[in-house]
Amino acid sequence: RAKELGRNRVELFEHGRVRAHSDRENSLTRIERALDQQEFVLYYQPKVDMHVGRVVGVEALIRWQHPQRGLVPPGDFLPVIEGSEFTVPLGDWVLESALKQLETWHAAGLHLGVSVNISPTHLQAPGFAEHLGEHLARHARIPPQCLELEILESTALDDVGYVSAVITDCHDYGVRFALDDFGTGFSSLAYLKGVPADVLKIDQSFVRDMLTDRSDLAIVEAVISLGRSFGKQVIAEGVETPEHGLALLHAGCQLAQGYGIARPMPAAAVADWVARFQPDARWLEAVADHLE
Ligand code: C2E
Ligand code: MG
Ligand code: MG
Ligand code: MG
Repeated sequence: RAKELGRNRVELFEHGRVRAHSDRENSLTRIERALDQQEFVLYYQPKVDMHVGRVVGVEALIRWQHPQRGLVPPGDFLPVIEGSEFTVPLGDWVLESALKQLETWHAAGLHLGVSVNISPTHLQAPGFAEHLGEHLARHARIPPQCLELEILESTALDDVGYVSAVITDCHDYGVRFALDDFGTGFSSLAYLKGVPADVLKIDQSFVRDMLTDRSDLAIVEAVISLGRSFGKQVIAEGVETPEHGLALLHAGCQLAQGYGIARPMPAAAVADWVARFQPDARWLEAVADHLE
């Protein structure tokens, strides 16, 4: 009886595995077609400097404009792609589209920076820095300093030596690097010291609860002070209300991004949004009070 049960379990497991395998194959075939048919689209979320009330740049965030399912968020399809043969083609498409868009904005007098998320496998694929150089060469009118690459803190920890070397090679072209979801990767400070990133991006989970949870506030403050000691810029993501922004200003962080400032939007909506952007009056007051 026990033996029988055991065998059934094995069969079930194997059946499940076969099924999962062919589902993934199907999804990947569908993703290849989506690339061909240009169903992917970039949305852009503004990043602002609360000190001076200015938009400093935008983060490019991919979506899948699916003919039946509508706008599909990246969490629903990136995990299937990551590590597959489509990681690099999709990553290249994102870089190229973001640079093209940046060129259009700059030509129109809108001098934004753009941040692009780079997946762990893309960053660690052979020749990443050289390919980046080719992307930049195709858009020679854009100052490379306007391009920032966001990598997960955990990616940097995968192989600190290799990733740091890639960052250094990309630095030679003039682009900047941010460590995304910072604070969630359990990085030891000794490792972090070796990673030549320019920006720490405080993870939204700490920002969201910093108004009510003293431990989260403590983590936010610690990252800000770490950034200051290491000479890195600090930006907070997940700023859902103006009060979050105010608390961040008090803690010493002036760069912010989140639904409380703007949701990710289509490229065509960005210029209007920038023209209309008004910083919260309390942010400017807080800064003025501080300067007195
Ligand atoms: P991320 O890079 O940390 O981006 C921030 C995510 O939080 C975005 O979700 C954004 O829409 C969302 N967000 C922004 N402000 C707020 C807020 O105030 N509250 C809350 N609750 N959420 C906020 P999204 O667009 O669904 O992207 C999820 C993740 O997918 C990104 O996290 C990034 O890791 C990845 N991703 C997005 N686009 C790309 C891409 O083009 N390439 C790669 N490799 N990864 C991407
Ligand atoms: Mg990001
Ligand atoms: Mg993040
Ligand atoms: Mg995230």
